[in-house]
Amino acid sequence: MALMAAMLLKLLVVFCWLSTGIDASGRGFQPALRAPGPGPSLRSNSTHAHGPNKRFASFEPGSNNNLWPGRTITFSTENLKDVINAATQLRRAQALWTANGLPDDFQVEYISRTECEKRRSTCLMVKYVSKGGFSSNVGMPPVDSKGDSDYKGPVMTLLTEDAEGRRALNDNPSGDKLNVVIAHELGHAWGLIHEHANPVYWKRLYHNDERWDGNAFWSPNFVCTNIPGYSAAKGRAQKLIDAPGSKFKTLSAEDICVNWGLAKAADFAASDFLPGRTKIWADRIDKAQAQEEDVDWDSIMMYSTFHLGPNNGVLYKPFQEDTIPERTKPSQRDIAGLIALYEAGYKREARGPLHNEQDSAELSEFRKLTCG
Ligand SMILES: [Zn+2]
Repeated sequence: MALMAAMLLKLLVVFCWLSTGIDASGRGFQPALRAPGPGPSLRSNSTHAHGPNKRFASFEPGSNNNLWPGRTITFSTENLKDVINAATQLRRAQALWTANGLPDDFQVEYISRTECEKRRSTCLMVKYVSKGGFSSNVGMPPVDSKGDSDYKGPVMTLLTEDAEGRRALNDNPSGDKLNVVIAHELGHAWGLIHEHANPVYWKRLYHNDERWDGNAFWSPNFVCTNIPGYSAAKGRAQKLIDAPGSKFKTLSAEDICVNWGLAKAADFAASDFLPGRTKIWADRIDKAQAQEEDVDWDSIMMYSTFHLGPNNGVLYKPFQEDTIPERTKPSQRDIAGLIALYEAGYKREARGPLHNEQDSAELSEFRKLTCG
């Protein structure tokens, strides 16, 4: 029994415990939000919200990851037998976004595997696995110009019908949880990172970026020790810290709950919660001390409190020990964020140097698969 429980927890770590139900409201009920102006002015205006608030987090357009041309994710499947399943699932997930106000030119489009291989760096390959979890690259990470990487192009990993993590979604009585999970992955694929991983919201200790010292997330409402595998991960972290020439030598093993890089290196799931990226593009980015009310608690890109299972509450709302409920649909700020990201991405005049040409540490970060 204990073994089964442990196995189940392990599965829950990696699969995306999100939400239930499809929102039935059509676009007429919630009209699409108007896109804000181009990047720089959006950033400088971002602390003065007028009309619908713009709250979202993504990579900086043009500085690292790429956006999908024409807002259209072109995809294929690794196996021919999965084509119908993948096309059905991605289109249903896209429809959930559209039903909540995303313009319908944000599309997913199937192309043949041969076509996809020809232009692999700009085609999403959908893979089905029976173990592990749902995941997706964020946007289209660039391929290493030196060609010394296994990464060939963006990937979305989905679970097969018989996978353990899928069964929990299927058994859910109150709605189409699977579709919400895939819609979350589609949010990543279009370019959104996790709402809770926006460094603006975290105390400075968690990112060491002098621009921000937020109050929304820190140890009282980030119960990191509830993440399964905490003790074993501390052991792995200590070995990394003690290794000769370690880049973590100033840290302690407990810092797996504070330092994204150490958590990632120790293969600890806190890295899915901590603010790993500081080169981001988001609203509130100018706000030195973001508060609870600055966070988009309704974002489909945010983990619910029990993302890792009913006995493993990790992330709560601040100060009140309030739980973060499971998602059912993208929020209005998710929608506004995607529109803004693509508006800014196409309006930018000059493209900065790509990180893949200069900074491989950054590159691997931008390429990382993002669970949930
Ligand atoms: Zn995710």
